[in-house]
Amino acid sequence: GGTVRFEDVRFAYNPERPILRGVSFTIQAGQTVAVVGPSGAGKSTLSRLLFRFYEPQGGRISIDGQDIAAVTQASLRAAIGMVPQDTVLFNDTIGYNIRYGRADATDAELREAARLAQIDGFVSSLPEGYDTPVGERGLKLSGGEKQRVAIARTILKAPPILVLDEATSALDSFTEAEIQSALDRVSRGRTTLVIAHRLSTVVNADAILVLDHGRIVERGTHAELLEAG
Ligand code: ADP
Ligand code: ADP
Repeated sequence: GGTVRFEDVRFAYNPERPILRGVSFTIQAGQTVAVVGPSGAGKSTLSRLLFRFYEPQGGRISIDGQDIAAVTQASLRAAIGMVPQDTVLFNDTIGYNIRYGRADATDAELREAARLAQIDGFVSSLPEGYDTPVGERGLKLSGGEKQRVAIARTILKAPPILVLDEATSALDSFTEAEIQSALDRVSRGRTTLVIAHRLSTVVNADAILVLDHGRIVERGTHAELLEAG
């Protein structure tokens, strides 16, 4: 399962300034839909609404036909995995951070998730700046490595629905390509909403929505959007 549907969704943080002015789209179970658009267009707001951090002021958001207004935030968090732009790590080992939300995972499962996210080797380390034992420094993780921790956590959690907030701006192009392939791997077969910053990273999405001034102004595959100019 996991068909996600936004129907005529309207939202404003501030009544004078509507952010979403009637946004409709469907992500069929297992498919990937990417949202692109200028900074401030409301892309991240879509994912906040999906998690019920805010309620839409019009329209409806449903998962498999059920209005999420009737679903607890806790169940939404269980059903939806998020790879955020900036991953904040807990004060514990990388392994603990990967296991978060799946305390029952076996060591073998943990190692496999870490391997797929290309963060193996760090599993027993503590991140720098956290409660490292006296005399030890902890490991300094780059932005890309932190994001890989979040990817490994998501692989282990294996939720039916995924939200990927692509953060490639801070990464060098080699790291970016590696992160991209790890993200592609984790989204395969899952209902995925990608908050995209560049069209070039969402070539394989089943559909791309262009959000501008609170409305979807274009939609299509990567090839269709390129043709439309
Ligand atoms: P995007 O992800 O497309 O860059 P966002 O969804 O993050 O856009 O934000 C859309 C608009 O809403 C922006 O203008 C942003 O400044 C504003 N905004 C975001 N969060 C809040 C908030 N909590 N309160 C007021 N305005 C907000
Ligand atoms: P939001 O998280 O609200 O969507 P963005 O990440 O779009 O905000 O933008 C934050 C800042 O980072 C902006 O100044 C934007 O120009 C810059 N930025 C975002 N994505 C990229 C990118 N792919 N390359 C370069 N700069 C980027």
